[in-house]
Amino acid sequence: MAKILVVADIKNDALKDSTTELLSKAGSIGAETAVVAIGSNIEALISGLVNAGSDTQYVADDPALAIFSAGPYASCVADAAKQFEADQIWFSFSESGKAAAPRVAVQLEAACATEITDVAISGEHVEVTRPAIANKVMQRVRINAGQMVVVVRAGAFEAAEGITGTENVVTLSPPAVDVKAVVKELISDASGEIDLADADIVISVGRGVKDQTGVDLVKELAHDLKAGFGSSRAMVDGGFMAHNKQVGQTGKIVAPSLYMAIGISGAIQHLAGMNGSKVILAVNKDPEAPIFNVADYGIVGDLFEVVPILRAEIKKIRA
Ligand SMILES: Cc1cc2nc3c(=O)[nH]c(=O)nc-3n(C[C@H](O)[C@H](O)[C@H](O)COP(=O)(O)OP(=O)(O)OC[C@H]3O[C@@H](n4cnc5c(N)ncnc54)[C@H](O)[C@@H]3O)c2cc1C
Repeated sequence: MAKILVVADIKNDALKDSTTELLSKAGSIGAETAVVAIGSNIEALISGLVNAGSDTQYVADDPALAIFSAGPYASCVADAAKQFEADQIWFSFSESGKAAAPRVAVQLEAACATEITDVAISGEHVEVTRPAIANKVMQRVRINAGQMVVVVRAGAFEAAEGITGTENVVTLSPPAVDVKAVVKELISDASGEIDLADADIVISVGRGVKDQTGVDLVKELAHDLKAGFGSSRAMVDGGFMAHNKQVGQTGKIVAPSLYMAIGISGAIQHLAGMNGSKVILAVNKDPEAPIFNVADYGIVGDLFEVVPILRAEIKKIRA
């Protein structure tokens, strides 16, 4: 039976849903599962780690781990992987996961595959699926190494209903201090806006909104729906939106329950960042716009007329 170690995704002292999603998938392919949680004062998360579906919980709880730093974090994961004798180590898609995964692979001399959307085990062989060439093709890659580290693409796996695990906590020793780099402080975005990576609904604007007035109009809709507010690269290049709002190949990859593309044509580089969304709604005045090829719901019309109607209808439903 394969042994899969999932790295818990913890943000602002809370366990993110992606941890349950990864453990659900690992369980569904018949693996024995463990989870490794790293941070400071994270004892309260242990019951959540069990409920997320893990059979063993490796916990590295130390004040030195309060702020994410890739070196010590990777050492903790490698330590847990060795103790568990993991065949596979799975990270969720996050900045910390992307930074730590290759370091873990180097420490364990394991293979490393990023952005994977599926893992299949057949006999001795493990095969992963991942997008390539800006999402134009999907690759199926056979891993020939005995051990592999993967970073799972956002939204690739779903949480199983009624999943639960067994409590078996193993305390890890704190890692040695990383003498090469010490992270002193993390300064978070002071805008107070919802982080795109965490948002259940993301609404993005494209060049179709034209200027700041158009941006503000759609931002109101995002505000009504408590949605993350994103952008195509055209609006970032135009100076209307900050770079950390860009969705796409060279921006953020999001997979919310609902993605609304407002005045976005649907260039391949934009699709690379959002086509894993569960439901996609597009508003565009051009019925031939490529975004409609991936949209579940399409509204052909002028966004300056459509967005106020959407807002009014949403208000009516809420009332
Ligand atoms: C290497 C590389 C990396 C890139 N990375 C990214 C990336 O990460 N993210 C990204 O987004 N792009 C990226 N791009 C750019 C990408 O190719 C497109 O140029 C960009 O996505 C286009 O943005 P857009 O859809 O907002 O603008 P446009 O393509 O100009 O589309 C605007 C759309 O608005 C519609 N519209 C106009 N007026 C209205 C109206 N009143 N009502 C309704 N609809 C209207 C139009 O019909 C049109 O479809 C990258 C490009 C390269 C070369």
